[in-house]
Parts: sequence; C-alpha cells; structure tokens
Amino acid sequence: MPRQPKYRRIVLKISGEALAGAAGFGIDPIVVDSIARQIKDVQQLGVQVAVVVGGGNIWRGQSGSQKGMDRATADYMGMLATVINALALMDALEKHGVVVRVQTAIEMKEVAEPFIRRRAITHLEKGRVVIFAAGNGNPYFSTDTTAALRAAEIEADVMLKATKEAGVYDMDPRTHPEAKKLDEIHYIDVLKENLRVMDATATSLCMDNNIPIVVFNLNTYGNILKVVLGEPIGTYVGG
Ligand code: UDP
Repeated sequence: MPRQPKYRRIVLKISGEALAGAAGFGIDPIVVDSIARQIKDVQQLGVQVAVVVGGGNIWRGQSGSQKGMDRATADYMGMLATVINALALMDALEKHGVVVRVQTAIEMKEVAEPFIRRRAITHLEKGRVVIFAAGNGNPYFSTDTTAALRAAEIEADVMLKATKEAGVYDMDPRTHPEAKKLDEIHYIDVLKENLRVMDATATSLCMDNNIPIVVFNLNTYGNILKVVLGEPIGTYVGG
C-alpha cells in the first residue's frame, strides 16, 4: 500500500549552511544534489513542497554590521546570498526532472519570478516545487521568519526546519552532553526558555497562526520523507 503523507503542503526551511556541507561556506553541489533528491522523494508522494533557503553560507547581515557595515545594507547582501542558493537548489532539482519556480521577494525578473502569493499557490497545486528567495525583502528579518511568513501565506500544514541537530534539546547539546532531545514542545516553552529553535519572531508567527514546526536533522538522508510520513523523528513544536 502506498504510504500516506501526514501533510498536504509543507514549507521546508533550509539554512545556507546546510548547502555548504563540510566546508562550512559556499555551496557543495554533492550536498545540494542529496537535498534535491530528498525533496523529489517527498514531492513524488503528492506533497506540495515550498522551500525557503537561507544565505548564511555566503553572507549574514549581522556579521557585516558587527564589523562596521550599515546593517540594512549588510542585510540586503544577505538576501541576495539566498538567491544564489536558491538557483543552486533549482538547478539540482531540475537535473532530477523536478519542475521548479524560484520567487524572489526583491524583484530581479531576469533571474526569477517576483513573489506573488497566488501564483506560488498555483505552482504548488500544479506539482511544481516553489523556492522562496531573498527572504521577505526587508532587512532586520531572518529566513526563518520568512519561512514562517510564507507558511502562513500559502496555508502550509507545517514548517519543517532542517538543522544539524536531531531536534530541540532541553539544554544546549554543544555545551551540555547530558542534554535531552525533546519529542514535543509547546511554542510558549520554546519562547520562555529561549531554546535554540529559531528566532523568537519566527516562532511567534508560527504560534499565532497555528503552524506546527518540526525541527529535524537534515544530515541523515531520508529524514525529510520520514517527517512528512509522520514518523516520530526530530521535535514537534506546536500548541
Ligand atoms: N535577511 C534579511 N531579511 C530577510 C531574510 C534574510 O535581511 O527577510 C538577511 C540577513 O542579513 C540574514 C541573511 O539575509 O543574515 C541570510 O539569511 P539567514 O541568516 O536567515 O540564513 P541562514 O542562517 O538560514 O543560512
């Protein structure tokens, strides 16, 4: 019997770092290819997949401003970095025969479509993967917040937050080896305890709009599919 996905429409948030692989910066085409294959597996189940890509493998606004740059300018650079990543992912997906549309929050129509909410939904309904790039077009925001915003806008059933960790821990696992991974947690507790899931703006946006978040490890091949099939991996953040 074919496996039934738990979600009909998802927003997958992939950080820039995830595309960099072991190098920690730039784009590793082998890693991007592996992510593309995983996305294809999910899409083939009939799940509508929208992706929000980060840009931290190339540029982060905050690091620029810490070194004296104007914050807004540095943030615009970060948003442009996400477009580079989006094109890399588009290319990898297309190599696997997946039909993709990139939509940018900052217009650059020679490169990609502008973000048009209703058009994005139509693409998804037609089985195309939509990659949202250039964040939400505004400085002082993150791509996590963008993912939460786009999830609300396109009425996604869930936001999948791909990370390097197995999920959300009760303490920082990098400094506390005794830290325990949580299977489930309320948004409020993530905010109250300041747990490292996403920034507070992104978490509250999901909370206010009842969008569950699944935090999971992207380094294990097949995990996106497992989450979509409802297997108990990662951490479920909900109400
Ligand atoms: N950014 C922004 N507005 C947005 C999204 C992103 O200004 O709506 C900038 C910000 O400077 C950020 C950079 O783009 O540091 C890259 O995004 P992010 O840090 O979220 O990428 P990730 O950590 O997921 O790789």
